[in-house]
Amino acid sequence: MIASSRLAPETIIERERALFRERSPRSSQLAERTQSHWLSGVPMHWMADWGTPFPLFVSKANGVTLTDADAHLYLDFCLGDTGAMYGHSPEPIAAAITTQSRQGLTCMLPSESVASVGAALAARFQLPFWQVTQTATDANRAALRWARAITGRSKILVFQGCYHGTVEETMVRLRGGRTVPREGAIGPAFDASSAAVAIEFNDAESLEQALATGEIAAVIAEPVMTNIGMVLPQAGFLDHLRERTRAHDVLLILDETHTLSSGPGGYAASLAWQPDFWVCGKAIAGGLPAAVFGFSDEIEARMRVVLAHREAGHSGMGTTLAANPLVFAALSAALKHLHTEVTHAAMQNGAARLEQGLKTLFAAQGLDWHVSRVGARLEFGFGPAPRNGSEAERAMRPVLEHALHLWLLNRGLLVTPFHNMMLTAPMLPGGAVDRLCASIGEFLEQVDLKASLA
Ligand code: PMP
Repeated sequence: MIASSRLAPETIIERERALFRERSPRSSQLAERTQSHWLSGVPMHWMADWGTPFPLFVSKANGVTLTDADAHLYLDFCLGDTGAMYGHSPEPIAAAITTQSRQGLTCMLPSESVASVGAALAARFQLPFWQVTQTATDANRAALRWARAITGRSKILVFQGCYHGTVEETMVRLRGGRTVPREGAIGPAFDASSAAVAIEFNDAESLEQALATGEIAAVIAEPVMTNIGMVLPQAGFLDHLRERTRAHDVLLILDETHTLSSGPGGYAASLAWQPDFWVCGKAIAGGLPAAVFGFSDEIEARMRVVLAHREAGHSGMGTTLAANPLVFAALSAALKHLHTEVTHAAMQNGAARLEQGLKTLFAAQGLDWHVSRVGARLEFGFGPAPRNGSEAERAMRPVLEHALHLWLLNRGLLVTPFHNMMLTAPMLPGGAVDRLCASIGEFLEQVDLKASLA
């Protein structure tokens, strides 16, 4: 028998890590210095989780190009895992924050632009009322708090495999039919499974059972799951979710932090109904840390009842600096120049080409891999498209993904670590999609897929 000349993904990882070391002397030096003063050598500990032997240090990022400390250029399909979805430092955002930076950074008072930004948010995202937080985590946390206060119920419902930031009560998983605390959470304050119920996405029966308990204040959901690979809603599921949550007076929070990629109004613009809360962070202000949550007239009225009846004491939800003038300058510019038909058309154009390129590549290789897309955001996975979070989780092959991501990184192509997510920024140059597909194709020629997928 002739031995296969293809390489196990572990061998590719070893080779690519060696190559990374060789081509990154400056990042290596920086890593030596950062080890002494930063946990895991990085300012946020998970920044060390890209699978490189030491972090890739960035010197600058503009448009779709990221330049590392060793002056290598990367075509960026990760885009800060969405924060830079419109490209790095979009010109209108850079200009707006440059001007504002000399006119006050934080005042604990509303700036004049709050009036026009409120109107623009309402016009673009179709909900009348708004609040600002600093991160999507904060916005989700605030929306969930309001939902509990409004309904007087304590539990929330999430979908298996969800991620909504580090909101403690969403940190659960469905295991063997039971909701359990999510594995690996650092220092949870309480057992999250006492505060949340997890069910599978696209499972109408379990949804009804959970809502009928009368314990649920809110369902928090991405309209397309994007944090466990990508799971698309089955036809009618989201309409059903809206109808049944209304029937049980359970509030529906749509977290569009990632699915803003759908189009200028987010995924919600394609739905025939409104959620009670609509949350978006990351790219909402073009890359400056900011998030918003919008809500309906009815929710605003119910919030006022809560405010009128609550005991005097504590009213804050933290993050004093969140609604600062710098963020409003960026939000205003983003609403004018980024959350637009023109910008999204360019992004979707690139994504459609990438979707086609990947599908053609997988078909040519005889692979039954799927490519899912929500606007400018794509994900591929090793098999047919999953119907829920558990199926998606089972289909993941972390070692194969690690090998592929390192391979791409060493060839100047960045995709999001942990899964196979790619975003196409509006200024993606011609040829970029072909370059990415060709490099994935070369990887597929090298790797022993049989061993990797077993
Ligand atoms: N919601 C969703 C759907 C997310 O994907 C994320 C982060 N990946 C968050 C919320 C949290 O965002 P942040 O880290 O900005 O708080």
